[in-house]
Order: sequence, then C-alpha cells, then structure tokens
Amino acid sequence: MKLAVYSDVHGNMEALAAVLDDMKREEPDARIFLGDMVGYGPNPNECVGMVRENADVVLAGNHDWAAVGLTDPSYFNPQAYESLVWTTEVLSDENKAYLKTLSPSGLFGNVQLAHSTPLKPEEWLYIVSLQDAMENYAALERNVCFVGHSHQPIILEYADEANIIPIHDLYWTLDAKRKYIINVGSVGQPRDSNRDACYLIYDEKGRNAGYRRVEYDIAKTQKKMASAKLPEHLIRRLAEGR
Ligand code: ZN
Repeated sequence: MKLAVYSDVHGNMEALAAVLDDMKREEPDARIFLGDMVGYGPNPNECVGMVRENADVVLAGNHDWAAVGLTDPSYFNPQAYESLVWTTEVLSDENKAYLKTLSPSGLFGNVQLAHSTPLKPEEWLYIVSLQDAMENYAALERNVCFVGHSHQPIILEYADEANIIPIHDLYWTLDAKRKYIINVGSVGQPRDSNRDACYLIYDEKGRNAGYRRVEYDIAKTQKKMASAKLPEHLIRRLAEGR
C-alpha cells in the first residue's frame, strides 16, 4: 500500500492545493491527514473542506480542538492565540461540528498515527529530545508511527533501548526489524528553513519513505493574511520557512 501522509495545513489553502495536486500524481492508495487544518492561516473553512474531500483518515490537531473549545489554549503564544480567536470567529458551524468529531490519534492498517505523540496524544507534547522519543516507542502498537505538530520533518529510527538514530535524509528505506516515528513536516507552515510545503509518501511494500517538497504562491497567502489583519510575525515566517 502506498500512503500519502500530510499534516499541519493551518488555513493555508494555496499550500494545500499545491500539495494535493502533487499527491494526485503520486497515485497513493490512501491519504492520511494528521491534524491542524486551521490556525495561523487565512482560509480555515476552505482547508477543512479540502481535507475532508482528500483524506481517508483525518486526525485533530491542537489548533483544531482549540478552535472548538476542546482544548485549553492558554499555553498558546500571543500570535497563535490571536489567530485562534480570528479562526474561531470565521469558522462555520458545520466545520466546527466536524472538528469536534475528530480524534488526535489512531491506527490505519499497519501504521500508527498521532498529531503530537502516540504516548499522550491529548497533551500536545513535542518529541524534541531522544529521551522523548524513547518514551514514545514504548507506546507503539505498530512499527511505524506518523506524527506532525512540530512542523519539522524527521525520521527517528529506534535500533534498541540505547539507540535512536535521527535521520534527516529526504528518502529512507525502513529496516523491517526496527521501529520508526516519522514526522511528516508541515504543508502550510514549514519550520525547517525550507519554505516549500512538505508531506510524505510511504510505500509499505518497498518500505520506502520519501519527503516531497512543493512550491506554492506564498505571496498570495501572505496578502490574504494581511487583509485579515493576522499577526505580522505569522505572515513573515511563511517566506522564511521557520
Ligand atoms: Zn501545527
């Protein structure tokens, strides 16, 4: 089975449209979305609609849940909070009802899914250190787990109790005897110093994971954010990929 896995669209419909277009050419058997359709960007309603039409599985992210009152946003930084308030105002009742139905983790065939972490999916923690990763391997019900949330594409290969290998390559063939936590990066707000939208193709048969980077019209998204009076910092970071 060939899977397309994408995450963290954050209301950026230009980036999402470009990714969906690229995905079509890859002809995946299934499309998996790991959460955060909304927050930060200017087109939350459009992005919810596009993801619903283009995913076999949809998870909730912290921004999706915060926008419908299912998680406490008091830990959000000021810009994230400001965009959350705006998003909550513009989201349609239908889309809000839909977001409330979503879960932040799940299983799909041979793979495990979580927006933040497989261990405590509702606490929205980040896997930043190898120690964090080690704790999460204990929670794995499958050998491969896809996550989003940090907007940082990375493959964490678990070799044994003492060794987790961080892999930054664009393509990687997974070892059948090892376990993996794979961050698929972000469609709508990449933070790895590469401004292009990011998602991942995973071919289960060949055990190949490959990141795809897709250019989109950043200036168009930025203009819409400016007219919506979204925070300047959020507008600028898109062009810098951070
Ligand atoms: Zn996010």
